[in-house]
Parts: sequence; structure tokens; C-alpha cells
Amino acid sequence: MAEKEFPAQARVVIVGGGVMGVGLAYHLAHEGWGPEVVLLEKAELTSGSTWHAAGQITHSTSSFGLGKCVDYNIGLYSGKLEQETGQAVTWHGCGSFRLAYTWDEMDWLRHTLSVGRSLGFNIELVGPEKVAELHPFYNLEGVLGALHTPDDGHVDPTNVTMAMAAGARQLGARIIRQCRATNITQAGNGEWIVESEKGTIRCEHLVNAGGTYARQMGEWSGLQLPMTSMTHHYFVTEPVPEFEALDKELPVIRDDKKVSGYIRMEQKRGLIGIYEKDGSNSVWHDHCPWEYENWLFDADYDRVMPWLEESLNRMPIFADLGIQREVHGAISHPPDGNPLIGPAPGVRNYWCCCGTQIG
Ligand SMILES: Cc1cc2nc3c(=O)[nH]c(=O)nc-3n(C[C@H](O)[C@H](O)[C@H](O)COP(=O)(O)OP(=O)(O)OC[C@H]3O[C@@H](n4cnc5c(N)ncnc54)[C@H](O)[C@@H]3O)c2cc1C
Repeated sequence: MAEKEFPAQARVVIVGGGVMGVGLAYHLAHEGWGPEVVLLEKAELTSGSTWHAAGQITHSTSSFGLGKCVDYNIGLYSGKLEQETGQAVTWHGCGSFRLAYTWDEMDWLRHTLSVGRSLGFNIELVGPEKVAELHPFYNLEGVLGALHTPDDGHVDPTNVTMAMAAGARQLGARIIRQCRATNITQAGNGEWIVESEKGTIRCEHLVNAGGTYARQMGEWSGLQLPMTSMTHHYFVTEPVPEFEALDKELPVIRDDKKVSGYIRMEQKRGLIGIYEKDGSNSVWHDHCPWEYENWLFDADYDRVMPWLEESLNRMPIFADLGIQREVHGAISHPPDGNPLIGPAPGVRNYWCCCGTQIG
């Protein structure tokens, strides 16, 4: 089939086909802008950070803004998106706990509880006995309490992105893969000129959804976006014999103090994710290489070992199992943890949809 001609004009050009850029295309299409949206992706959709995300999403956040986004997304991923597009999203609604070991942490959970309650979430503060009832394998020594968010879960981030891409296309948006934007400048009349490997396109609104590339893309238009790229690991164990007999998925455990991360089931395997508190690693200080696709780093066991060891202490049924899969990838990080979403200061009709440390 002949390839469609590269468009010369669009109302909006989104650069970047991860969960953020595709999510924006989907939602703009639902706002009635579908035929006026063009998305450019330099490789395949999700080939930046999105494909390797662990896909967890939780109501336990102390940010009102993020809380609203999370709640909306859980609704979208757990039903509406799949019904609308017919594309599998693979939502796992297993719920989750966030543990506290100190009274300071309990105060923080109470604060998070108050935010969640005021937003109308299904959220409760519980004692360790409730955690033990729903997750009998976790070593709860020293745990004072936990925030229980039963509507949480996890999702396959590639499936979600592909489903939103299908939804955007159904409403007329155009997604052009294998097409890297190579320069973005503004004409005297305010129009944006996006040069790319397949041609030049002019638009009224430009959206930078470049993930770990967003900072270097911003430089083309005179912007200094405050973000850097940090790396993060998760590990998937061999099948866990104790999981074989379960007819229900265990809740995700977020153990910030001991594991500095999260532990959950990955089908009948265990998944351990670690945000190391010391020696964290930033990468690509000058720029992220344009040729990277689906890029992973070698696992750095020395760096994560204290928390990996503690996670085996907390989940003794993992202790004798081998690790079958290591994922060590980059995530963009803004300085204060808040994503860069909205108009870029001082540059008319240039929008940021990047800097997310969670997707
Ligand atoms: C190991 C790991 C586990 C994670 N687990 C979770 C989790 O459980 N929950 C969670 O919420 N988040 C998680 N994350 C974070 C999540 O992956 C990211 O926050 C999210 O994927 C960012 O999406 P994005 O669309 O902003 O960026 P990306 O997915 O990186 O997308 C940016 C896209 O832009 C494209 N691009 C860049 N420059 C150009 C250009 N010039 N022209 C055309 N295309 C371009 C890239 O090719 C890329 O596809 C995890 C991350 C890692 C590393």
C-alpha cells in the first residue's frame, strides 16, 4: 500500500510517541481535535521509557493534582479504554499497601489519607494485621501501619499506549512512526516549523513529549527544561511455587523504608523494584543519543544490593529463587517531582508534556 503523503500543515504537532504523547493525542481527539493532530515518533511507539515501565499506578499520593490524574487514569485503564477501542489493556486491579515503620511515616500516611479522602478515593489506614490477611507472605516485622488503596493496580504500559493510539486514530489523529523531528523553530507569524526525517510540517501548537529527549529538543527553541535522566531497576524472579495455588493476585506492597521500592506478583513470578536511596545514578548529562531505541543498561547489582537483600528478607519465599529478568532503564526526572505539563514560559504555543517520573 502506498504511504500517505507527509502532511505539510497541522493544528497540533506532538513530538514523542510514549504514553504521554499518545495519551495527549487520544485526549485531544476526544476534545474534537482528532483530524488536526499529528504525532511524530522517531522509532516505534513506546520505544523510549514507556515499554519497560512496571506499570503500577496508585491512589496513595499526597498531591491533589497528581491524585486527580491517577484516579482518572485508573478509571480509563480498568474499563473504558478497552471497551472503546477493543484493544486489550490488561488491567490488574490487585490493590496496594504503602507501609510505615516509624511514627513520622504514619503521620505522612495520615496526610496522604486526608488528601485521598477529600478526593473521594477508596483509601483507608490499616494495621499490620490487615496487611497480613491480604498478603500472608510479607514479613511485617516492625510495621506500624499501612495505607490500603484497594482500587490500585498495574497495567501493561505498551498495551495502554497502543489502545490510546487506536482511539486517537479512530477519531482522525495521524501518527507517523520512524520519523524523527530534527529541528523546531518559530516563524515570524508565530507558526511552528517542525523539520523531520520525512519532511517539514507547520503547525499552530507544538507539544514536546520527548521523554528523556525533551530537554535537548527544547534547546532547539531556546528553552532550558529543568529535567535530568535517572536510572531505575526492577527484577523478575523465577516462578514462585507459593503463587501457583493462588486464585487471586496479591496486592502491590510499597515499602519505602526497607525495600525503597515496590514488590508485586508478575503473573506467577515475583517483581521487585528499587529506588536506591544512596548512589542513585543519572545518565545522558549532555544529551540522550538519538539512535537509542528500547534502550536498557546492564544491571548494577552493587548499587541496589542493600535493598535487594532486604526485599528477600521481607519476602522470604523469594530467597532461594533466581532472577530471570533484569530491567534497568532511564526515567526523566524534574527537580521537584512534578511533571512538566502546560505552556512553556515565554514561548507562545509551545507546550510541554514531559518530565514525568511516573507515567
Ligand atoms: C524500570 C522502570 C520502571 C518504571 N515503572 C513505572 C511504574 O510502575 N509506573 C509508572 O507510572 N511509571 C513507571 N516508570 C516511568 C515511566 O516509564 C515513564 O514515566 C513514562 O514512560 C514516560 O513516558 P513519556 O511518554 O514521557 O516518555 P517516553 O516513553 O520516553 O516517550 C518519549 C518518546 O519520544 C520519542 N522522541 C524523542 N525525541 C524525538 C524526536 N526528536 N522525534 C520523534 N520522536 C522523538 C522517543 O523515541 C520516545 O518514544 C518506570 C520507568 C522505568 C525505567
